[in-house]
Amino acid sequence: MTPLSGAANLPQLQALRPSPRMPVLFVGHGSPMNAIEDNAWRRAWQQMGRDLLAREARPQLILCVSAHWLTRGGWYLTGMAQPRTIHDFGGFPPELFEQQYPAPGAPAVAQTLARELRSPATQQPLGVDVDAWGLDHGTWSVLKPMFPAADIPVLQLGMDYSRAPAEHFALGRQLRALRERGVLIVGSGNVVHNLRAVRRDAPADTAYDWAAEFDARVQSEVASARLPALAEFQQWGAMAPLAHPTHEHYLPLLYAAGAVDATEMPRFFNAGFQFGSLSMRSMIWG
Ligand code: ZN
Repeated sequence: MTPLSGAANLPQLQALRPSPRMPVLFVGHGSPMNAIEDNAWRRAWQQMGRDLLAREARPQLILCVSAHWLTRGGWYLTGMAQPRTIHDFGGFPPELFEQQYPAPGAPAVAQTLARELRSPATQQPLGVDVDAWGLDHGTWSVLKPMFPAADIPVLQLGMDYSRAPAEHFALGRQLRALRERGVLIVGSGNVVHNLRAVRRDAPADTAYDWAAEFDARVQSEVASARLPALAEFQQWGAMAPLAHPTHEHYLPLLYAAGAVDATEMPRFFNAGFQFGSLSMRSMIWG
């Protein structure tokens, strides 16, 4: 299927230019259906996209860290010119599988950034992936409502899941300088994410006690600018393994938090829960 977009006709982004400082986003993505359902979460994403495009400087590139691209033995950037839309889920209606997000990649920029960024423990440059990945639903389910024109190039950063949370935060620190080169950093995961505990009939203002408690702890650490403390979530007691039986949906928050200064105040949006065990709490800095 040919992507239905003018994006394919744009000249390829070759290099990042200096720019006014870009904000940083962390978005709780929840169910893949949020990509196409008209609900409060998605309406907030649409509004956020409009707000961002109304600012004085438009992003030159979106660098998205999605919960759904996990690597081992190193970090990777997508390096293809036209990343494919990946439908990495099952059991959803055909309409969701038909969704495409034809945003261009930026192969030259991916190569440059892969050399500039370093795996925190080993100081090795990052890898560049040209055929395995693309844009998974952690990325496109959020970016499509936000930037429906799909005309801003997107790179995904794959997370080395074998490494400690503090290393993910440390890599986020390295992303901070990219904000002055026109890069909008987007972490896409969930502050609380326990699929086994999902209750589809739960309203948005109800959550398990452990889920509400973990969500409040994150809110408090972020609002108090205790950002490095976010990487210590596994020491937060019994609620931690309940909030994140596996922690891939939490890690994107560490990249976003790593990319901000302690003096930058966050603004929260979409605070609330989907299905009682997925915190949709999202935040923007800058
Ligand atoms: Zn997810």
